[in-house]
Amino acid sequence: MPRVAFIGLGRMGHGMAGRYLDAGFEVAVWNRSKAKADDLIARGAHWAASPKEAALGADAVVTMVADDDASRAVWIGKDGAAASMKPGALAIECSTVSHAHALDMARELRSCGLIYIDCPVTGLPSAAAEGKLTLLVGADAADLEKARPYLAPLCTTVRHFGAVGSGTVFKLINNLMGAVQIASLAEGVAIAERAGLDMNLVAEALSTGAVASPQVIRHSKRMVARDFSGASFTAALRHKDAAYAVRLAEELLPGVPVSRAALAAYETAKASAPDDDEGAMIKIVSRPKG
Ligand code: NAP
Repeated sequence: MPRVAFIGLGRMGHGMAGRYLDAGFEVAVWNRSKAKADDLIARGAHWAASPKEAALGADAVVTMVADDDASRAVWIGKDGAAASMKPGALAIECSTVSHAHALDMARELRSCGLIYIDCPVTGLPSAAAEGKLTLLVGADAADLEKARPYLAPLCTTVRHFGAVGSGTVFKLINNLMGAVQIASLAEGVAIAERAGLDMNLVAEALSTGAVASPQVIRHSKRMVARDFSGASFTAALRHKDAAYAVRLAEELLPGVPVSRAALAAYETAKASAPDDDEGAMIKIVSRPKG
């Protein structure tokens, strides 16, 4: 039976780890706070006291943690997974990390004899729990073929962008554009409110018209209703992704004023309420100034 270690049981990771149990894998789990593992343990997962313990004997280690610092800690920090992984095992990074970090980890883990692939995802926590994510992979083609059996339980689509790091490049561009769209939507909704428009009509028109991207569809009615229940992606994580993306843009396309404006908007949102849903941006934008 293939053995997977799953590290990071937040909104996304919890559902993803459950997919391996459903698919009949032998699963060891670790999370910084143990309580999030309780129901997975009840379903048959083995609790490990550290990433290092979880990774012992695993054919693949999959991580889904917040950011670069968390990723570094669980791979190569004290009691990190790399310390116990067997040569040739797969190190699958599903967290959204910076491009520089993905390349660093690839170097570090390859030097330990491991196969590292960057595999950030798109899809909400509900898609994670249902195995309906899209995976954005950076890997040598042969490494991706080895990883496929471990990716299959998580996803409906695998998009292979090229060498290690390229999945992360695309993910950061994608999420930077999401930040721009959501920040712009908040401003549009706030202007419409000040103009006294019928806001139910505005929400309906926005989510069915020419600007109706999935982000606009998801957030327009919630912004109008100020209903952010069931937060799935926080202001802090949106800010993190935009910051990593703008750092990448600095190397490739300096300037990017629209992207920088969205990053600044999410800096404010993160400073105000980091754990709020990203759509709560509307509360900041519509606040009376001065
Ligand atoms: P989350 O619910 O906030 O979970 C974050 C996870 O990271 C938790 O397991 C947390 O542990 C762990 N963590 C944070 N700092 C750590 C550290 N220093 N050391 C070890 N573990 C640490 O976030 P999420 O929404 O699941 O997102 C996880 C990743 O998926 C992020 O990279 C995010 O950008 C990406 N993502 C999210 C979505 C989404 O819709 N939510 C979609 C696509 C991609 P604790 O439980 O102990 O806090």
